[in-house]
Amino acid sequence: MMYGGIEAGGTKMNCAVADQEGKIIASQRIATREPAETLAGIFRFFDRYELAAMGIGSFGPIGLDPKQANYGHVLATPKAGWKNFDFLGTLKQRYPIPMVWTTDVNAAAYGELKKGAAQDCDTCIYLTVGTGIGAGVIVNNQLFQGKSHPEMGHIRIKRHPEDSYVGTCPYHQDCFEGLAAGPSIEARTGQKGETLPKNHPVWELQSYYIAQALVNYTLSFVPDKIILGGGVMNQTHLLSKIREQFLLELGGYISIPSVEEYIVPWQLVNESGIKGCLQLAIDWQKESIN
Ligand code: ADP
Ligand code: ZN
Repeated sequence: MMYGGIEAGGTKMNCAVADQEGKIIASQRIATREPAETLAGIFRFFDRYELAAMGIGSFGPIGLDPKQANYGHVLATPKAGWKNFDFLGTLKQRYPIPMVWTTDVNAAAYGELKKGAAQDCDTCIYLTVGTGIGAGVIVNNQLFQGKSHPEMGHIRIKRHPEDSYVGTCPYHQDCFEGLAAGPSIEARTGQKGETLPKNHPVWELQSYYIAQALVNYTLSFVPDKIILGGGVMNQTHLLSKIREQFLLELGGYISIPSVEEYIVPWQLVNESGIKGCLQLAIDWQKESIN
């Protein structure tokens, strides 16, 4: 049996086929252009395989309520042609097989839970800090989604007293994403995060904001583990600052495992999403996800 996975992003579609152990047999990256052209590329890749099921983790927001006409669609996005595009329906038309449909970050959380840093857990949160900020949640081995999905990148957090930057979010300005995603680092410093030294003051702000979000996630979901990924987390020195600030902000209110075991970096580095998509397809029958 073979299984398909699509990690659908605003810049590229990560496509892969795996065996039932989740071992990747073939993969291809397809640039995300207008839907027709992009889907043609996706079909060219998957047409070569006989698939038993498919897992799709998509950029969003996405329609998740089967009772709504927008089920399976990509909703609000500035990406040309993709707004309200029936992504899942188009795939199903070509491949009438079971499909698990979720967000890119939920898929990544699932990947880390089954194959990565959270294999000893049944409830975990995956947070990506990259061009945007998003988080996926797995509760008791199930995707946390219902009529819709969480938007945990856009939560409100308190501003650092020394930060006067207005924020990059077009909807809220200074929400978590607006204050702490990659583009906010560049807007504050005039330089891309990858070029800044470890001792640059912006990393204080960064860890202050991420730690607050993790406190909010902890109080809301009480996960077994939180996994951090995304381009900005290539700054590995951030991890200890985040853990320290997290303990300060949590104030000992609830007990967590040791913070080194609780807040951890992604183990599947850059593959959490695609591996999660494949695993969702594989587990579909077993656990009747979705
Ligand atoms: P995306 O979120 O678009 O999928 P990434 O997770 O790679 O992609 O995130 C890209 C963002 O991360 C950019 O804003 C980039 O400047 C930032 N970034 C990438 N590498 C680093 C790094 N080493 N240090 C700090 N920021 C980084
Ligand atoms: Zn926002």
